[in-house]
Amino acid sequence: MYRPVNHGYIEVVVGPMYSGKSEELIRRLKRAKIAKQNIVVFKPHIDDRYSKKDVVSHSGDSIEAIPIEKASDIYNLIDEDVQVVGIDEVQFFDEEVVDIAIDLANKGVRVIAAGLDMDFKGEPFGPTPKLLAVAEFVDKIQAICSVCGQPATRSQRLIDGKPARYDDPIIQVGAVESYEARCRKCHVVK
Ligand SMILES: [Zn+2]
Repeated sequence: MYRPVNHGYIEVVVGPMYSGKSEELIRRLKRAKIAKQNIVVFKPHIDDRYSKKDVVSHSGDSIEAIPIEKASDIYNLIDEDVQVVGIDEVQFFDEEVVDIAIDLANKGVRVIAAGLDMDFKGEPFGPTPKLLAVAEFVDKIQAICSVCGQPATRSQRLIDGKPARYDDPIIQVGAVESYEARCRKCHVVK
């Protein structure tokens, strides 16, 4: 893929859960690090799945990341000579993250964002669709459908092992919640 050398731009890596988004983000950031570029990585404060200070992929790879409450915190945590800004779980940020990505790219920064493109209902998730529209480079990656083995593009939410309903609350007290990657055909929203 053609990558301009001295200009800023936006890259987005999206896909369902278990598609390897964080793994791909980490891979790109580590390569930038090898190239001795000045990189800073952010993630939303709420995502403490594996580590509070790192972006960690399901395969166990990791890179240091700063948990932040809101997208505008990025400005307080980067300096003039930053070259690459990584953002994981971008769907959980407020819409302002799009304007910040554009602003940084305009200033010559390479912005690499990764996250879910769709929520468990199969609907566009938070600021991701807008970010996809303004990005120079977009990669939609697939997981494997846990039902039929075909490429999976959606995240299936399960509550006590059964497909979640469209209007089920985000947090179900006392219920066991889990997720699976599924294809369009096998994805169920009641
Ligand atoms: Zn399937």
